[in-house]
Amino acid sequence: MREKLVKAQKYIWLVLILVGCSSSEPEDSFVYEADRFADIRILRYQVPGFEELSLQQKELLYYLSQAALSGRDIMYDQNYKHNLRIRRTIEEVIKHYPGDRTVDSFDHFMTYAKQMWVANGIHHHYSTAKFTPQFDADYFAELIYLTAPLATYPLRDGQNVVQLLAELTPILFDPELDTKKVNTADGVDKVLTSAVNFYEGVTEQEVADFYAEQLDPEDETPISYGLNSKLVKENGELVEQVWKVGGMYSEAIEKVVFWLDKAIGVAENENQRVALELLVEYYHTGDLADFDAYNVAWLADSESVVDVINGFIEVYSDPLGMRGSFESVVSFRDQESTERIALISQYAQWFEDNSPIMEEHKKAEVKGIDAKAITVVMESGDSSPTTPVGINLPNSAWIRFQHGSKSVSLSNIVSAYASSPDSALEEFAFSEEEIERSKIYGDQAGHLRVDMHEVIGHASGKINSGVAPVSQTLKQYASTLEEARADLVALYYIMDSQLIEFGAMENLDVGRSQYDSYIRNGAMTQLYRLKPGELVEEAHMRNRQLVALWSYEQGLAGNVIERVVQDGKTYFVINDYEALREIFGRLLREIQRIKSEGDFEAARSLVENYGTQVDQELHAEVLERYSLLDIAPYSGFINSRLVAVETEGEITDVQLEYPDNFVEQMLEYAENYSFLPSDN
Ligand code: ZN
Repeated sequence: MREKLVKAQKYIWLVLILVGCSSSEPEDSFVYEADRFADIRILRYQVPGFEELSLQQKELLYYLSQAALSGRDIMYDQNYKHNLRIRRTIEEVIKHYPGDRTVDSFDHFMTYAKQMWVANGIHHHYSTAKFTPQFDADYFAELIYLTAPLATYPLRDGQNVVQLLAELTPILFDPELDTKKVNTADGVDKVLTSAVNFYEGVTEQEVADFYAEQLDPEDETPISYGLNSKLVKENGELVEQVWKVGGMYSEAIEKVVFWLDKAIGVAENENQRVALELLVEYYHTGDLADFDAYNVAWLADSESVVDVINGFIEVYSDPLGMRGSFESVVSFRDQESTERIALISQYAQWFEDNSPIMEEHKKAEVKGIDAKAITVVMESGDSSPTTPVGINLPNSAWIRFQHGSKSVSLSNIVSAYASSPDSALEEFAFSEEEIERSKIYGDQAGHLRVDMHEVIGHASGKINSGVAPVSQTLKQYASTLEEARADLVALYYIMDSQLIEFGAMENLDVGRSQYDSYIRNGAMTQLYRLKPGELVEEAHMRNRQLVALWSYEQGLAGNVIERVVQDGKTYFVINDYEALREIFGRLLREIQRIKSEGDFEAARSLVENYGTQVDQELHAEVLERYSLLDIAPYSGFINSRLVAVETEGEITDVQLEYPDNFVEQMLEYAENYSFLPSDN
């Protein structure tokens, strides 16, 4: 599971000034923002502490970074089967177009290209709606034809440029064709209506039947069914096309494995070496039991400074929540921030014991929460250019239960986010007191909530014995409710004075500040990210709206949260923080019950009634108020670049650079890491 962060809610999480105090002080003069277009800003991040690493650790980071980038194209193809051909065509135009680049139309074309890179495809990374080009099909044809003599287009066998254009034009310009990457709407066939390249020629019901047949309810260590394959129909039979060496995406996976093998040679210790070897083994066999074995070994490696996530991990892009998108995050430990998180982890059992969930849903022993802060050096696939700020893995429920999980907060990414001031706070907070409190305690509150969400939130609670995994029972609502559960654990405790005793926060104003921003965001400001007429569909957004609006409704009688309209502007104002805490506790108890029992109908009712519908009038107001603020709601990141210095075939140094041109980095990656054919 992962936490993403967008500007609209930045003041909630506003964070990690603390990181500024870690070993190598980030430069004040560092320019974070590198580009701005559509609804995106492109940021850079610093890598404090890199110079202090040993050569062996730097070499390891280098190999893991190469492995990360080698899998980059997989995510494009997973997102949509036409993405690679579209991207390569567009990149050829950018590299070779001989015509006028100063006209508006070319500008619009470049914006489209940048949007595509940010999303790893032509559907928005967050809303998953297909991008609408601001140039027309005639101009596209002009670009393609004028560039043709200079370009190497990704033509199919026997295809000419005219046919390529005829193929791509409706894909780009027909608004009715493959409109959504992930369709989670209720009451439609989510498999047939989603453009994501995880299924071919199968219906949602057929998928459900296919896996229901394989599922053994007695199995206490079930594999993550469907995680690493595309499900297709061949001669009337459903078949999994497995992503492995020798299978689908083999060309890219072979390169990933090549670099992982190099990494194994410079592993920091035995545990890390064993884990990496198991990962390679899994890429060879494609056997999900091998992936589980890898995850168990990865959890056992808690000492290493360098760490990596590499594989088919998160399932947010699958409307059925089964298939994993390729991603990699290469990092090393941020020691100072890790100590702060360790404080929460240390009291994990106390939090579980004192939770408002039902006794039978509590874990008698909360196991192995390995929480740390990390400094990122490279991200790819699902984690790049947009990145999570917190990650908790593995996702397999039984592994989490038996072996625990690793929870990380991405320090240098969070620092980059915190680098710019936030004007939305002043606009949407009701009182001076609220603004002041947020300015003083917003950072601390943000840290604490992210840490508790990841460290004790996702880790808490258990599923009743005999109940299938949540992906089976709660289906499309599983992710939303899991995020809600983790948020509610954090919200419940952030108003607990015991946290002051533990030394985790200064006073209850930290909690109050978090309550203010959570309700403000969940009930109102996050709507900024939707276009008029859209519903709330993304899991984290649904979770936040669900929590905010359910709590608002529950507190109506006692006026716990008040909806105030002043000078035509709406505000959500909390009148009773203690009562709100009690409401959060009740919702946590109910959501844990839903998860523990696998109560699909209750899940549907909560998510559809509170998490999905949009108050059209309020939405229009939010869009109007935001339009006056100069804010990009989404951020993408330029990666740092690792350069290996070789002397006589031996790596003698690894240097780290901070590129500042997003387009150049995307073209560089395309040049060096295009291992897949344009069709898969
Ligand atoms: Zn989460």
